[in-house]
Amino acid sequence: MGTLTFHLEPAPYFDFSGRHIPVNIIKSARAKNIKLKVRPSGVVELVLPKRVSLKNGLAFLQSEQGWIANAVKDIEPSVAFEDGAVIPILGKPHTICHTPHSKRGVWAADGKILVSGDLPHLPRRVRDWIRREAKIQLTLKTTYYCSLIEEPVRRITIRDQKSRWGSCSSAGNLNFSWRLFLMPEEVLSYVVAHEVAHLRHLNHKKEFWDLTEKLFPEMERAKKWIKINGTSLHKYDTTN
Ligand SMILES: [Zn+2]
Repeated sequence: MGTLTFHLEPAPYFDFSGRHIPVNIIKSARAKNIKLKVRPSGVVELVLPKRVSLKNGLAFLQSEQGWIANAVKDIEPSVAFEDGAVIPILGKPHTICHTPHSKRGVWAADGKILVSGDLPHLPRRVRDWIRREAKIQLTLKTTYYCSLIEEPVRRITIRDQKSRWGSCSSAGNLNFSWRLFLMPEEVLSYVVAHEVAHLRHLNHKKEFWDLTEKLFPEMERAKKWIKINGTSLHKYDTTN
């Protein structure tokens, strides 16, 4: 196992054999006890109840280093949106290329995501572009699956939900994670078919799964892909 050292400056982090592991310290009025967890993105989260001082919180963090090292060792390093980073777009690797002198905004071509403008704005511009493109793609698919079951398309919202890829509200509004746009197109299609099927059945009973499979016959293969690869998509753009 690698070595873990804690640093408080400039922002709390662990150095884990050269890897930067951010530590998010949260003061909570509601928390009763100290809570420590490692997010799938590799960020360590320390929640401190009001009565616990920062000093005692940090002492606790030091005492749990063995546990933390074990929890982070299998997490893949995070991938920031920066020049040269490789990001899957609909499952195909794309390299982010800063092209400061072109005036085209952000666009994808030949396995590249080209980004014009000043370098400091690049992460935000890539982030905005991916969310925009994800929404276009997810809206198209939603419209298609809704037409198959003759349901109207209601509101579609793009989020960064950590625990789920999509959800359906009782009012029929659909929420999707922008990270679906990183998955192969057929897996994204499955998630949309799944949420659209919830417009008919707001449960996971047999009738729901039968309808999902009718909409998307390759369902089992897509579910398997998500089970194997889903978590690792949380390593991209861990800034929020
Ligand atoms: Zn569901």
